[in-house]
Amino acid sequence: MDLYEHQAKDLFEAHGVPVSRGSVAVTPEEAEAVARDIGGAVVIKAQVKVGGRGKAGGVKLAKTPEEANEKAHEILGMDIKGHTVHRVLVAEASQITQEYYVSFLLDRANRTFLAMASAEGGMEIEQLAAERPDALAKVPIDPLIGCDVERARAIVDEAGFPLDVADAAAEVIAKLWETFVAEDATLVEVNPLISDAEGTVIALDGKVTLDENADFRHPGHTDLVDQRTENPLEAKAKAKGLNYVKLDGGQVGIIGNGAGLVMSTLDVVAYAGEKHGGVKPANFLDIGGGASAQVMADGLDVILGDPDVRSVFVNVFGGITACDAVANGIVEALKILGDAATKPLVVRLDGNNVLEGRRILDEANHPLVTQVDTMDNAADRAAELAAAGV
Ligand code: GDP
Ligand code: MN
Repeated sequence: MDLYEHQAKDLFEAHGVPVSRGSVAVTPEEAEAVARDIGGAVVIKAQVKVGGRGKAGGVKLAKTPEEANEKAHEILGMDIKGHTVHRVLVAEASQITQEYYVSFLLDRANRTFLAMASAEGGMEIEQLAAERPDALAKVPIDPLIGCDVERARAIVDEAGFPLDVADAAAEVIAKLWETFVAEDATLVEVNPLISDAEGTVIALDGKVTLDENADFRHPGHTDLVDQRTENPLEAKAKAKGLNYVKLDGGQVGIIGNGAGLVMSTLDVVAYAGEKHGGVKPANFLDIGGGASAQVMADGLDVILGDPDVRSVFVNVFGGITACDAVANGIVEALKILGDAATKPLVVRLDGNNVLEGRRILDEANHPLVTQVDTMDNAADRAAELAAAGV
């Protein structure tokens, strides 16, 4: 999960990383009040989860509270690369002497953590890496050793930070590593990290990605989810413990067991859909190994609640949970859903105890259910039904 700048900075602050004083506002009046409270010049910053806000006009300086009101009025509601600004951060303006770049991230390719730092911050890191790779220090971080002040100091030296800020920067970077570890982040990026006239080092911007697999040990992290931008179907699925991802522009709801099977189901449906007016899969949903009736009902409930869905393809390969159990699950799920089940279901069962599974579905003879024996033919039928239902 990616965080907003203000959330990232709250985490920074909790781990002793210096940030400028500030508060979030949702109206120009609130922004004005925050500015008055801070006193002096402030920056008004669009809170959207996308980089380059500054260039897009989403970061503006305001010298007075009245001006803060004006700038917040300009920024709130703005569209930045497809993201609408609902909130601004009003922060004490800093006097910047120099801008630097620093980040910690999970380097999947090299199976390690990586620190990156540059004395040339402010500019987009991709651009810096492409144009001036020598100016970007890349230092692997061993998870068992971590990054203490001493290591951070070596990173700072390699990145060519000026000597008079090197110690202060190293202190801050070591605390950023503490944040990265303590919060189970996969990315902590500060661009720019700045020094001011007094040599104070501050994180002026913040980008943090949290590892959702570690949510269970961070009860506070769920509060960081933005309900406004979270897809309501994904929220519903998450609440039911389902592994569901909504896909844009699709009409065929997908339920399968096992991530690999579901992924190939998406491909097969997209391929079949080409022959039926370009219909596409509407979601990813893996109900896992033990497809109980309740899990099947929950899954169907989420998918049938998707207004884009015109047909549903249930693709199950019976393994430890045999096909008869899955078939009973489907029959029970349709009973649980009753009138809420409204769209045609194409079911393909194969694997362990397939004949009994098919027999159970035949016997139930539910008007919405069509059985098709092969994956390709089932995908074709589901795509055809979706196209007919549009
Ligand atoms: P981004 O464009 O989304 O990365 O937003 P940033 O928070 O990084 O801000 C963009 C740029 O605005 C920074 O690189 C700074 O040059 C400038 N900026 C941001 N905050 C301040 C501030 O408090 N004082 C000054 N002088 N400039 C700022
Ligand atoms: Mn930035």
